[in-house]
Amino acid sequence: MKRTIISLFVLFGSLSFLYPAFGNDGTIAFVGATVIDGTDAEPLADGALVITDGRIRTVGPRSAVTIPEGADIVDVSGKYIMPGMVNAHGHVGATVGLNGNGGYSTDNLLRQLGLYARYGVTAVNSLGGDGDQGFTLRNEQYDSDLDRARIYVAGSVVVGDSEAAIREEVNRNADMGANFIKVRIDDNLGVSQKMPRSFFEALVDQAHTRRLPVAVHLYYLDDAKFMLETNADIIAHSVRDLAVDQEFVSMVTEKDVCYIPTLTREVSTFVYESVPDFFSDPYFRKEVEPSIIEELSTPERMSRIAGSRSAQTYKTQLPTAMANVGTLYDSGVRIAMGTDTGPPARFQGYFEHMEMHMMVDAGMSPLDAIRSSTGIAAECIGMGDIGTLEPGKWGDFSVLTENPAEDIRNSHSIESVWIAGNRVPGE
Ligand SMILES: [Zn+2]
Repeated sequence: MKRTIISLFVLFGSLSFLYPAFGNDGTIAFVGATVIDGTDAEPLADGALVITDGRIRTVGPRSAVTIPEGADIVDVSGKYIMPGMVNAHGHVGATVGLNGNGGYSTDNLLRQLGLYARYGVTAVNSLGGDGDQGFTLRNEQYDSDLDRARIYVAGSVVVGDSEAAIREEVNRNADMGANFIKVRIDDNLGVSQKMPRSFFEALVDQAHTRRLPVAVHLYYLDDAKFMLETNADIIAHSVRDLAVDQEFVSMVTEKDVCYIPTLTREVSTFVYESVPDFFSDPYFRKEVEPSIIEELSTPERMSRIAGSRSAQTYKTQLPTAMANVGTLYDSGVRIAMGTDTGPPARFQGYFEHMEMHMMVDAGMSPLDAIRSSTGIAAECIGMGDIGTLEPGKWGDFSVLTENPAEDIRNSHSIESVWIAGNRVPGE
């Protein structure tokens, strides 16, 4: 059986182009680290992780794993391995600097997917704003040469002025090959019209006819209950107006719907009212152009945010969002890490770490926050070949010098990132 699987791997090509030192058909073994595998398992001390042609061949205690002859061996004794983070809600390709429409292009997509990757975010579920180039990159990533973050795409955020128009737009995204259908059900804090509920029902019906899951941008508890009643599939933001009640907890538990808190999205709306602490963090600064930090630090801009009604509402409601994460976590709801990064000043890569830290601040254990950011996030977006370190899955992971399961803020100690067994350049 094992041999059959391995022989299939040969079809995927060889890593030898990238790693000419490899002795055989592209096998690399990481030995001696504590392995956090993204499943329910406890961290495994003194582990061995063997990757062949981009996929995990074996993982287990070093004493029990036979390293294939000729494999390249990487000694990671005393270090930690965790799966690549999976951002269940991002946006990729449009922003340049602080311009949210800076130019959607393959180059910009690749730049952002490289940025995510250097921070150990090895997959992103792009929930809207995706054009042809994003779909093409999605289609090209099932390859053992990959060394940037994986992307999944939703196409357009579906809107329409009739049920027929909504169904047509769902079909258009489905025909392009979308992984998800994305829709907004809120009213921008009272500024815009909500989508009529009959339109929303038509959207879910059409998406499900096309066998696509529906990800819902929401704000209000009442809308969250409504979307659950329609059997929409994933909650793409926190409930922020009210504390979740028992009725909601029962519904979300019964329907086994995943919940993506995007707490850092809330932070991004108001935090630039003053100079945030993270502006002095070298782990942030290493990837951000100084001109962006300068622009966000100008008094004019800071006072605009301090005076923004929406920014201050999101700020006021952040404790509600965090408390809801704690309640849902305690109730056993599957929580998937997601940030809504990509739009201006929502910093791809750095914010996924901050999100994980905030999930712990909201009451999750560090190990559970890691699971929510890896295996659970992958499961919630329906990607069975990433997210955990198990045989047959892609070799997407980070090597860290400090233990993130002990203190989640150790997630910043990433030393190297690997995607399909290829070292991500430049971290
Ligand atoms: Zn979004």
